[in-house]
Amino acid sequence: MAKKIVIIGGGVAGLSAGIYAKLNGFDAEIIEMHSVTGGQCTAWDRRGYRFDYCLHWLVGTRKGPFNDIWRETDVLNDNVEIVDHEVHTKIFANDGREFILYTDINRWEEYLRKFAPEDTKKIQMMCRDMRKSAFLQPFSDPPGLRKLGNTIASMFSMMPVMMLFMKYGRKSCDEYFRKLGFKNESLNYFFSNIYGSRDFSALAFIMMFAWFNQKNAGYLIGGSLPMANRMTNRYLELGGKLLSGSKVTKIVVENDIVRGVILSDDTEIDADYVISAADGHTTIFDMLGGKYLSKKISNAYQNWELFTPIVQVSFGINKKIESEVPVETWLIKDQMIGRTKTMNGYSIMNYYFDPTMAPEGKSVIVMRFESPWELWKDMDRDQYGNEKERIELDAKAILEKRFPGITDNIEVCNVATPLTDVNYTGVWKGSYEGFMPSSKNLMDNIDPAIPGLRKFYMAGQWLFPGGGLPPAGQSGKWAIQYICKDEGISFKTL
Ligand SMILES: Cc1cc2nc3c(=O)[nH]c(=O)nc-3n(C[C@H](O)[C@H](O)[C@H](O)COP(=O)(O)OP(=O)(O)OC[C@H]3O[C@@H](n4cnc5c(N)ncnc54)[C@H](O)[C@@H]3O)c2cc1C
Repeated sequence: MAKKIVIIGGGVAGLSAGIYAKLNGFDAEIIEMHSVTGGQCTAWDRRGYRFDYCLHWLVGTRKGPFNDIWRETDVLNDNVEIVDHEVHTKIFANDGREFILYTDINRWEEYLRKFAPEDTKKIQMMCRDMRKSAFLQPFSDPPGLRKLGNTIASMFSMMPVMMLFMKYGRKSCDEYFRKLGFKNESLNYFFSNIYGSRDFSALAFIMMFAWFNQKNAGYLIGGSLPMANRMTNRYLELGGKLLSGSKVTKIVVENDIVRGVILSDDTEIDADYVISAADGHTTIFDMLGGKYLSKKISNAYQNWELFTPIVQVSFGINKKIESEVPVETWLIKDQMIGRTKTMNGYSIMNYYFDPTMAPEGKSVIVMRFESPWELWKDMDRDQYGNEKERIELDAKAILEKRFPGITDNIEVCNVATPLTDVNYTGVWKGSYEGFMPSSKNLMDNIDPAIPGLRKFYMAGQWLFPGGGLPPAGQSGKWAIQYICKDEGISFKTL
């Protein structure tokens, strides 16, 4: 009889675990509390418009171990069209100054040198770092299961990037920019306001541009929902079971061995192994009652910074709005949108590049801004309703200023808040990508296994500071690799 793996959570990590579990002959059951799978990788349809919540860029659209995962899980196939934007973001300052982030490093270097000729040397240094980080090859196998020969070979090929890890692995963007010491005031202003305003890892910044440069972090036409649906279909076609609309409240443990899960209606489901691909904090502190903690887990949940949650205001507009760039960021500090005072401004994304988002001749424009969890956590129903109305009004006024006359063309307006995310996916404090990658944690992942607890693994964004879809997909695969090792069977991807 095939051993049974229960997977808590049907987001990208849970779906990935489910697919690899089936590929390796296990009996797999995903338990998802929402009515649909995909977790935060999702979208919703309103009057013919589709409002996407997640996918801006997917690392691994072209090559490497993440690409293998996306192909094995049907996220990518020959019918999926990939868009690589030339411009990542166009940024506007309060005083009208503009700045462009190009995805091609050569082009960006040329632009930056014109922007700040006095900083040519520093710009060259920064772009050189970015090019070097292209040597980074994520490991395809998890720690403990890597073949020595492969590890040595990748260490060797990654030598240039190892130097970067040593130099910048524990540095923030702020320290990195200070070390570079740009003289140009505008360049300093933009870099420090975009990336330096918090402890954001310098290495994460450098690597991000290397991925874009390699055209290995594209956008998939159709966006998040079809991506999640393709994974779900692959899982179901392989014979995986899916129990949706059911919430796990407890992981059953006997003598430090996990035996199954209990649902909110008290149903008990037995399992030979449990993988939790649900929110990390809920898993550790609620489902396991905080009884199994390693030093690293305790430290991470107490001390590591989280992503500030976001509010997303989506507009369905009954005319075509042309745009040269997919995203504009307006670095407007202290702008009130509802009760949020913007700290890092807001972004306006025009989905003109994806014809599946709006009916012919119409447009979808999405505004996003950060809004601290403290503003939301104690709101009652009435306050919440009023707040959403205020946000809608304020966001419409901002949009009108940007595109004069557009208000008359707004057919649909939809406000999704940090509470929306928490209610639908349980994500802790609305931190949509888990732990912020900082100078303190970029090199510290959390182990999928918890010391002292057997037959249990974790998967998902909370294991890797920075979160995102690639670590989610990879951690699902790795959990099954560990289980295959425990069972003494060789891991298969076909
Ligand atoms: C606005 C936005 C933009 C983003 N942009 C990008 C991007 O461009 N590129 C990128 O790589 N990433 C992006 N991300 C991040 C990415 O969406 C997440 O990191 C990723 O989807 C996390 O996947 P996961 O499976 O680990 O967790 P989740 O998606 O949070 O899935 C967890 C699942 O577990 C379920 N669950 C929770 N508790 C229980 C329970 N008790 N019982 C049963 N089920 C439970 C939830 O309902 C959910 O389905 C973005 C996120 C947001 C919100």
